[in-house]
Amino acid sequence: MADGHAGGEYDLFVIGAGSGGVRAARIAAGYGAKVAIAENQALGGTCVNVGCVPKKLFVYGSHYAHDMHEASAFGWNFQPKEDLLDWKRLIQNKNNEIERLNGVYAKLLANANVELINGFATLIDANTIEVNGVKYGAKKILIAVGSRPFVPDIEGKEQVLTSNDMFYLDALPKKLLIVGGGYIAVEFACIMNGYGSEVTLAYRGDLFLRGFDKEVRCFLADQMRANGINLMFNTDLTKVEKSPDGSFAATLKDGSVLPGFDKVMYATGRVPKVETLGLENAGVKQGKKHEIIVDEWCRSSVPNIWAVGDVIEKYQLTPVAIAEGHAFADTEFGNKPRKVNYENIPTAVFSSPSIGTCGMTQEQAEEAFGADNVVVFKSAFRPLKQTLAQGVERTFLKLLVHRETDKVVGVHLVEPAAAEMVQIIGVAMKAGATKADFDNTMALHPSAAEELVTMR
Ligand code: NDP
Repeated sequence: MADGHAGGEYDLFVIGAGSGGVRAARIAAGYGAKVAIAENQALGGTCVNVGCVPKKLFVYGSHYAHDMHEASAFGWNFQPKEDLLDWKRLIQNKNNEIERLNGVYAKLLANANVELINGFATLIDANTIEVNGVKYGAKKILIAVGSRPFVPDIEGKEQVLTSNDMFYLDALPKKLLIVGGGYIAVEFACIMNGYGSEVTLAYRGDLFLRGFDKEVRCFLADQMRANGINLMFNTDLTKVEKSPDGSFAATLKDGSVLPGFDKVMYATGRVPKVETLGLENAGVKQGKKHEIIVDEWCRSSVPNIWAVGDVIEKYQLTPVAIAEGHAFADTEFGNKPRKVNYENIPTAVFSSPSIGTCGMTQEQAEEAFGADNVVVFKSAFRPLKQTLAQGVERTFLKLLVHRETDKVVGVHLVEPAAAEMVQIIGVAMKAGATKADFDNTMALHPSAAEELVTMR
């Protein structure tokens, strides 16, 4: 025991064993630092437990009914059966995989000599953390506690589900109302529609996915409608109420009522999980949304306390949290100071079809360079697969080029393989690729991606 810290003294104490925290802890320990990490829930944070990983598994699963339908045009005879979907098996298999990943995270930490402390950590002061009544001393502290779903204050708010609950549903809801118009609302609308739910998505604005390229948003809205999703824009709820028959009714701002939903899900953003963390005890400054305010090195207002990931509200994306955690550890423990470069982050919405995007939207590019200085190349077509299947799915690809420099400044895709495509396009854009570079690249035929190098 030193300085009255019964739990011991550490070079680094990380609060939160999600993507950012685990990466920082492992890298710092690799540089020889004595590191502890505290976590009060399952290891891996939102991404592993109630985010990216189970979501992507759900996305895969949700495509089978559609694929089976299309398969008949390719000669297959799949006979639809009443009990085609065993929802409980899906949840069980998903849970097994998440548990396996929790174990992988525990091993990673143990192998890196990071001490795992199970429990909720609070700051006592800028160098003291308390977990389960035990005090730990730390020269440096990293806060990586992430975020949680936010539900606005409507009447009946306690009746609604969030994305956390959607991963543990007992049964597939027959009729589902999803409120929100961001990544999560759109992804879950497509997932549940794919599994066979009758889905209504209610969004308060004119068109969902604010911040994405406008044409992409319109294109996806058409595709989702064609898949049978009921999109209600300019729709705001004031109340959710359980009816005597057990179903839910939603009251809208204009007083009208949407009845008969088995479940109502809210996906209206996420907020930093900072309550009861004791930030005020250490003097850590927070912003309007309670996010921890940090500088470009992820350092908070307190010189020996840093924060990464969702809790700083910059980009709520796993790879960004990992990059921030890694850069912090390199800087503070590896004698390799570096900041995260947030330019041209490729991102995807795992809708059906998915969106892949990197760089500026057309609206942003025109604002930055002037409309005359932005050359727009685009292509919308029926993918080869659909020629036999005669399905509704269409592909949309868009390339934005800065006229003066010929640089590709934005790429926007609506395509089943958009996420895979845009990851690699991100490399080209980081390398400063021009339209001429795209043109000089031999096409790969037949593929959807070849359109990107043949657009004239
Ligand atoms: P987003 O911030 O993406 O979207 C929130 C949505 O909720 C917006 O449409 C917003 O409307 C609406 N909203 C906010 N407040 C209210 C309110 N009071 N009443 C009605 N509507 C409201 O949040 P998500 O929850 O979808 O996702 C959180 C974050 O998680 C994302 O920002 C993303 O970074 C990350 N994520 C990433 C994924 C990926 O990479 N594929 C997948 C899932 C999540 P408005 O536009 O009008 O403000």
